[in-house]
Amino acid sequence: MKNKTKHIIKTIEPGSIAEELELEPGDELLRVNGEIIEDVFDYHFQTNDTYLELTIRKKDGEEWDLEIEKEYDEEIGITFENEFMDQYRSCSNNCIFCFIDQMPPGMRPTLYFKDDDSRLSFLQGNYITLTNMSDHDIDRIIRYHLAPINISFQTTNPELRCKMLHNRFAGNIFPKVQRLYEAGIEMNGQIVLCKGYNDGAELERSISDLSKYLPHLKSVSVVPVGLSKYRDGLAPLEPFTREDAKEVLATIHKWQKKLYEQGQEKNRLGLLSKYNLNQLEIAAKQAQDNVALLETSMEQLYIKLNDLMGEKADARFEYVYDVTYTPYKLSLPMEQYLNAALKKDLTIQLKELALDSAKFTKNYVGESNTRLDSNTQEYNYDTAKRNLKTAKTDKEMAIRNAYLQLQQMETQITSAQSSLTKAQADYRAAQINLRAGNVTKTAVEQAEMGVVSAQNSLNQLIYNYDMLVFTFENPSLLGNTAQAQ
Ligand code: SF4
Repeated sequence: MKNKTKHIIKTIEPGSIAEELELEPGDELLRVNGEIIEDVFDYHFQTNDTYLELTIRKKDGEEWDLEIEKEYDEEIGITFENEFMDQYRSCSNNCIFCFIDQMPPGMRPTLYFKDDDSRLSFLQGNYITLTNMSDHDIDRIIRYHLAPINISFQTTNPELRCKMLHNRFAGNIFPKVQRLYEAGIEMNGQIVLCKGYNDGAELERSISDLSKYLPHLKSVSVVPVGLSKYRDGLAPLEPFTREDAKEVLATIHKWQKKLYEQGQEKNRLGLLSKYNLNQLEIAAKQAQDNVALLETSMEQLYIKLNDLMGEKADARFEYVYDVTYTPYKLSLPMEQYLNAALKKDLTIQLKELALDSAKFTKNYVGESNTRLDSNTQEYNYDTAKRNLKTAKTDKEMAIRNAYLQLQQMETQITSAQSSLTKAQADYRAAQINLRAGNVTKTAVEQAEMGVVSAQNSLNQLIYNYDMLVFTFENPSLLGNTAQAQ
């Protein structure tokens, strides 16, 4: 396997093995254990050993073969100029819904880079289409257990996928998905929903087809296509209306219920472990919370939209919003609240389940398992421990931040209430002054507009506040940001 990226050493850690071997910045790593290194995953895999051989090209062109004996996970002490040790892979599609094609012109160039790289899926949570992946790439995911892999499916209908991704090979990914599934690689799926393309019966087909990858396919997010005003020359796409969105949500709810019931049945028959059933249950709860949040934000977006269109929201959508406001009170002292919130947090619960599972696998390695299996299991266990710790720290920070934000918003609401009271007083004074002949009718109208504007600002603030209280009380919703493809 060739790699066009040169692995030039950037720094040498003082006191490290690399320093002892007299390696220097500017030297080039050619091979580890006789293998060409494709990227940082290769490097870590090859160097996590007690004995290894490095081939180095010194700055003067001389080649050195070095033998190293070290602790299993001891670092050699090198960083490289390109930390990823490879170029990021770009996509080979031309999707009808591509968000990059819809970017405004003149932004910084990196924002226009269309990445589609499984390693970024693992490292940063990006969604990938699998269309530019070879069998060798799939082998590497399985070999290094690069999980989870986040896949943008869009549809399971091969012809439709080719059409939507504008790529005649885009329908061929399912044997690759099957391999990942058979190797037990955890996956998350995404469907960017385009009206008239992959919604309705096609969506039902996709969810039904994807359910066969349970339990390794952990989730499928169905997201409506985002449309910007920069769509000149792109395939015409229509936005989803409120009614369309309700229909989509009904379909998704139906499938969530159905799949969970199927899971229960499989568990009863001994075909699905309690662990996987728990995961399914937690994922379903998480999805319901997300749907509730989505519905709330949709209401808000409709109000904004109607405001922009100069129409009254309640006249058009019969939407009534009660603006009564009560400052939020923590039910428990903060530290106790945090403990309780972390316990009921679905993301943490999933990570705990993953840790239990990794621990179980690690402790029950059979005699026949190879060293590679045992190393992988050890690695998976460490990763699961780290993931749980990171998730807890992140969540705790997100909860604290949200609470801080709530308090800041309370101050803003108090100030908006004062502005409204002042605007109302100004309006009353203008009316009195009009009767006394001191001001014109226009002044009264302006004062009236001031009241409307102050009322709107207050409504908006209270609305945002309610949304934040909702997310604060459902910590599973806090800090969950996945990068959408
Ligand atoms: S949506 Fe993603 S995969 Fe599709 S063209 Fe744009 S960058 Fe490529």
